[in-house]
Amino acid sequence: ASANLRELLLSRIRDVPDYPKPGVVFKDITPLLADPVAFNALVDALAEMCARHGATKVVGLEARGFILAAPAAARAGLGFVPVRKAGKLPGPTLTQSYELEYGTAQIEVHADAMTDGDRVLVIDDVLATGGTAEASLELVRRCGATVAGVAVMLELGFLGGRQRLAPSLGGAPLEAL
Ligand code: AMP
Repeated sequence: ASANLRELLLSRIRDVPDYPKPGVVFKDITPLLADPVAFNALVDALAEMCARHGATKVVGLEARGFILAAPAAARAGLGFVPVRKAGKLPGPTLTQSYELEYGTAQIEVHADAMTDGDRVLVIDDVLATGGTAEASLELVRRCGATVAGVAVMLELGFLGGRQRLAPSLGGAPLEAL
């Protein structure tokens, strides 16, 4: 992202210490979403990534990923595919488990939402440990689609998500605005 965009976005993200638990600094994007100039600039930048990476579909990760991925997909002229927490999608789904700090979680996608002709860009707000994004790439792959890349607004580099994602990306780009 340009230096101007980076500064604008950073100025609209609020750090909330010790949320949702002690020791975590939560990156709250609601001030950014409430600012029409910043929100529009963010959606523009994500839509530009869709085009630059030749995406044919855009995956958004529940829940804040939906807020960014859906308008970016529409602006880029592409369809949007929700990847949801387990049990929320009505049709036949593929399920992927991944490890959390304590225990495991599952995400799902409709089995027919992506096919082998698709190049898929995965969008989320924050890349932390990379567990969620890694599981979503697995779903893309299991649908038979190609990974065009992962785009996030903010990467928490000290958590090593980029390293964790590298094998699933298989050379596709991870871009953080
Ligand atoms: P992870 O699977 O560890 O990369 O976590 C990614 C998911 O958790 C993303 O969907 C983020 O929205 C959320 N998340 C993790 N850490 C934070 C944080 N410090 N601030 C805001 N969201 C976070």
